[in-house]
Amino acid sequence: MNVLVINCGSSSLKFQLFNADTEKVLASGICDRIGIEGSVLNYKDSEGKKTEKKEPMPNHTKAIEMVLEALTDKQNGAISSLEDIRAVGHRVVHGGEFFKESVLINDTVLTHIKECSDLAPLHNPANLMGIDVCRQKMPNTPMVAVFDTAFHQTMPPQAYVYGVPYEWYEKHKVRRYGFHGTSHKYVSQKTAEFLGLHYHNSKIIVCHLGNGSSISAVKNGRCVDTSMGLTPLEGLIMGTRSGDLDPAILEYISKREDLDIQSILNMLNKKSGVLGISGVSSDFRDLLDADLGGNERAKLARLAFAYRVMKYVGAYCAAMNGVDAVSFCAGVGENAKFIRGMIVRQLEFLGVELDEEANNICGQEAIISTPDSKVKVCVIPTNEELVIARDTKAIASQL
Ligand code: ADP
Repeated sequence: MNVLVINCGSSSLKFQLFNADTEKVLASGICDRIGIEGSVLNYKDSEGKKTEKKEPMPNHTKAIEMVLEALTDKQNGAISSLEDIRAVGHRVVHGGEFFKESVLINDTVLTHIKECSDLAPLHNPANLMGIDVCRQKMPNTPMVAVFDTAFHQTMPPQAYVYGVPYEWYEKHKVRRYGFHGTSHKYVSQKTAEFLGLHYHNSKIIVCHLGNGSSISAVKNGRCVDTSMGLTPLEGLIMGTRSGDLDPAILEYISKREDLDIQSILNMLNKKSGVLGISGVSSDFRDLLDADLGGNERAKLARLAFAYRVMKYVGAYCAAMNGVDAVSFCAGVGENAKFIRGMIVRQLEFLGVELDEEANNICGQEAIISTPDSKVKVCVIPTNEELVIARDTKAIASQL
């Protein structure tokens, strides 16, 4: 069964076509700069051969038309017709409290996704656009929604409630939701499998460290806490996002800098994090170079980032009354051995011992703690698209 996975952002669209039975990727790619001058489709076939097509994409309809044309292209295409796509899986960022798992898309589901748009104004409308266009182009193909928030819906109330008037939750649904759920689910399962643990009798902390970063506590296969909140702004210090801070800073800075709340939130989302601290970059490769060159603020950014991750690992050990394994994933977690090292060396209180040599690996499954380490530390490359393809296949097979 072929499954097309679509991850539609406001100005980009990523896709992967899977043979969902063998889990082989038949084609993948990205449409960039949709609605902006210089739109381009980058397409990669199953052998890794890349082609680039520059053509104006004024909207998502045009982008999806180009993707479908590329997939069915007589010379380079992966399939001969759209009939060969059995189902489409869509990444949807916010499912609020409506969705605890992936679902077949129908009109009620679409209404609920729309109702969650206030909670994710940058993401849900773009996700909806992708769904809408795919439904128009493939009216008889089942569409499945896979939510970033769903895996975290198992959190108990004491973990998701904020210390604010309860009516904010009742009236406006203000609570912790958490994001990167497909990644936390995949990596926690894979960690258990890799280490030979029983997933339903295990305590795993997943550190998803990318440009956006979040951490989760997964006890017996269920998420019991996670660092992102109502929006992805809370929690760890990220590439450009601040993570946790004293909310009173907003009023203080608004007066001092004469900024409105929108401008401050924009700065907390786009100009903060390690970029804000260092003044250099949101990319950890640039930070390492600057740090090695003696840039003190780049060093501070790296130290602050690692310190925050360490604090969360400590908190989540307490939340689960122990931990069997800590896993790193995503761009930084999979590739940045210096950052991993900085974090893991601070976990000595758990009886964790870093295997310096094993920690040299990049982008592959590995145990990076010593055989004597009381808690295992792993690198587990994440695969959010595969989770979407698997869930889509599971739902489409029942039809
Ligand atoms: P996103 O949140 O955009 O999905 P990714 O998970 O792709 O982010 O992570 C991107 C980040 O990973 C980059 O900004 C960079 O900081 C980091 N990164 C990627 N490769 C490396 C590497 N080889 N060494 C250090 N950091 C890396």
